[in-house]
Amino acid sequence: MPEDLEGLKEQYLRCVRCGQCRSVCPVFEVVKNETATPRGKVFLAHLLATGEIEANSQVQAQLSRCLLCRSCSKECPSAIPVHQIVTAARAELAVKVPSPVKRLVFRKIWTRPRRLALAAGVTRNIQALGLDKLGLYLRLLPPGFALPGRLPRRPAHTIIPAITPATGETRLRVGYFLGCSTNFLFPAAAASTVAVLSSLGCEVVIPPELKCCGLPQLASGEAAAASALASANSEVFRRLNVQAVVSDCASCTATLKESPEFDGLKVTELSELLLELIQKYSPGLKQIQKPVTYHDPCHLAKAQGITAAPRELLRLTCMDFREMDGAADCCGSGGAFALYHYRTSMSILNKKIANIKKSGAEIVATSCPTCIMQLRHGLAAHGCKTDVVHTVELLGKTLGRET
Ligand code: SF4
Ligand code: SF4
Repeated sequence: MPEDLEGLKEQYLRCVRCGQCRSVCPVFEVVKNETATPRGKVFLAHLLATGEIEANSQVQAQLSRCLLCRSCSKECPSAIPVHQIVTAARAELAVKVPSPVKRLVFRKIWTRPRRLALAAGVTRNIQALGLDKLGLYLRLLPPGFALPGRLPRRPAHTIIPAITPATGETRLRVGYFLGCSTNFLFPAAAASTVAVLSSLGCEVVIPPELKCCGLPQLASGEAAAASALASANSEVFRRLNVQAVVSDCASCTATLKESPEFDGLKVTELSELLLELIQKYSPGLKQIQKPVTYHDPCHLAKAQGITAAPRELLRLTCMDFREMDGAADCCGSGGAFALYHYRTSMSILNKKIANIKKSGAEIVATSCPTCIMQLRHGLAAHGCKTDVVHTVELLGKTLGRET
């Protein structure tokens, strides 16, 4: 279980309110209100823990204005884990001010793969009938409902076999953690992950009984549900006897790495594993000619400190790789944040879109499905034709393993 507010007491008591975290918080940059600052949220959590303020929907609303991007936690000179404090405060609020809708979505549906698949199927049918557009037009649905775009007809788990052998000699047996967003929104990225790993000598196993990584539950305050998911998933991988657990989703990888339930299992981020295999076995790579830039997902750069490996991969695979300004700035997605705070999310995204345009790139590569979804949404809204893909999809093309 992640630490509760009481367990984090020593951490939030160390906040000296220096305000250094304000300058890096993308939400504060837009909202310009002290309650939206990281230190404001730390203070709110402190008051909540000591009982000096009542747990109510206003406090919940204030603490929902956080992307959990970790920019503040990285910047804080006292190394205060603001994102953990916000997460713990949300967990306390979820108990004291329960939301039946959130419980239904994050506890009852999202924790059960069959129910989640059913919900995705219903969404697909709603989209096919055009009811989503009508709902958005009549403002019966929140504007963030448009973010995922049209759901693909078939999720990845119905297309990719449970076991894909290595092409040629088997160098590694890996368990692929197929996250919910990649599965339901980007099956082509999942297919590329499997094809590329296989072509580099990995036997890829996708356990059919896998569940969500637990991040949506953690972020919405359902800490016990997140823990139960981590336990179930870690047991699945232990039984499989794989040499590494790998995921192409930055958020899933960060969550698995930080789950105590995964202690003793080797969780590897995809770009690091791919770079290692390419450097070791030097496969032939055809280079992409179009200009390509890279967006750092917060859960990769800030949560895992991984910035070099994806860039190295892109330099190997692209003739014209160019850095954009603010590559590590949050895109404003933050999972459900964009759903609850659509306008703030879009204001944060606008800066990123301007930097993408300025780079002149025709393709943006990144390693997080929710970032892909957010960037595509923003670029389309700006009438910009720049494509957004997962880094592994470019690698698939350069290795001749297009899916
Ligand atoms: S930077 Fe750290 S110590 Fe300073 S106000 Fe923010 S959370 Fe508190
Ligand atoms: S995690 Fe990100 S959005 Fe949340 S308070 Fe910190 S900087 Fe702001």
